[in-house]
Amino acid sequence: MTPAPDAGVGTRRPSPDRVRERLEAEERLFQERHPAAELFNERARRHLPRGVPLHWMAQWPSAYPIQVIGASGAQVVDVDGNDYVDFCLGDSAAMFGHGLTDVADAARDRLATGATFMLPTSDAADVAEDLADRFGLPHWQFATSASDANRFAIRLARIATGRPRVLVFNGKYHGCIDETHVTLVDGRLAPQPGIPPLGLDLDRTTVVIEFNDVDAISHALAAGDVACVLTEPAMTNCSMIVPQPGFHEALRDLTRAAGALLIIDETHTFCAGPGGMTRTHGLEPDLLTLGKSIGAGLPLAVYGMTDSMAETLRGYTTQSGRTINHFGFGGTLVGDALATRVASVVLQAHATAANFDRMIGAASRLQAALSSVMARCQTDWSVTRLGCRVEIVLAPDLPLNATAARATRAPDVEAAIRLALMNRGFLLTPFHLMALVCPQVTDPQIEDFATAVGEVLDQLLDPSHT
Ligand code: PMP
Repeated sequence: MTPAPDAGVGTRRPSPDRVRERLEAEERLFQERHPAAELFNERARRHLPRGVPLHWMAQWPSAYPIQVIGASGAQVVDVDGNDYVDFCLGDSAAMFGHGLTDVADAARDRLATGATFMLPTSDAADVAEDLADRFGLPHWQFATSASDANRFAIRLARIATGRPRVLVFNGKYHGCIDETHVTLVDGRLAPQPGIPPLGLDLDRTTVVIEFNDVDAISHALAAGDVACVLTEPAMTNCSMIVPQPGFHEALRDLTRAAGALLIIDETHTFCAGPGGMTRTHGLEPDLLTLGKSIGAGLPLAVYGMTDSMAETLRGYTTQSGRTINHFGFGGTLVGDALATRVASVVLQAHATAANFDRMIGAASRLQAALSSVMARCQTDWSVTRLGCRVEIVLAPDLPLNATAARATRAPDVEAAIRLALMNRGFLLTPFHLMALVCPQVTDPQIEDFATAVGEVLDQLLDPSHT
């Protein structure tokens, strides 16, 4: 990244040479401090592509990932004896902190007394009641991941409407769902780079437009072939893109008028509070999906629906006599005794108003501390926050859509910052510069983190140009 022509006088930017230099220096330091992880990675590479069980884990900026041996609250320890304050939190799956002993006890108890029966236990009703109170949708089903929950919600929307297409916003991520792997190139739908369309006719299955573009929604819905709009309330997977005033009201009015259903994916935006942004913004989705943190490490997710959607589900899954049509939704381990027990403990003991107050309070202090660091370091970068989720954006103005967001991204700069912070004992998500704050993070840890960010930027940014 060279200084942009319009960079304000005195604004500091990182030159490509300096970024390269810092990346090399931090990589040397990383390797010195992680000899056991290197050996482990060498062994793992023999039978695991890139040495990891999920290729996303190879996204960390170092030549090989650290090897975690344990974690508690916000603290992670690796095999080489290094300690980290974790602001990645399993990319949201551990949002309520690591090593929750009551969750562990409940899971251990279920595993010891029977975990999976193809029969319900009382926890299922407890969870559904809790979710109905939080999100205002009366009916709930389980899934094993947010990807699955979104797939099931889309399927239900197609069955209910008899229409083929799903509308998504450019820059979205809703999980491993073939027909949502699209992007906008010069304003037109294109397959997501690196994902061939796999025989799907994406023009028939999918519409993609920019977030915050109400006219584009109206235009896209006019043909009457869109079954559903699937969206996060604020986009969190392409840095952070917040809805403009009136956007959600317009989206709801337009979908209702066009007979298209609205699916709200709260998987990440649950960070906004006990009822996610659906509650903070008074949203009225037809279907709502939620994964990751509700399982505290167990693969589970839920999706909620209106009376009318529940009627569609019942109608579709009813067959003659005693037979239920079990095709299309679910899975053997979905909603089993173990999953519902864990979800119940997470919701009742961790996703509480008091915990959200703690997390959001700490995240607000983190945002303020990082904003001061940006000013002191003379950058024009900004720090934004959604609930307990804080994001550093490498631009003065927050992007309104994915095209603008992508223009702010600088992979080498982000990698250099992330690696330098790892070397100072802090983990940020490997996908962008996001820091998620769990309830156990302390104020001294927040101050230390802000200080470390300041040190890293002072090394990375060129002296101010005048
Ligand atoms: N929805 C959103 C908004 C997500 O960010 C993700 C994953 N990052 C998913 C769904 C899919 O979650 P999973 O990988 O757990 O299926």
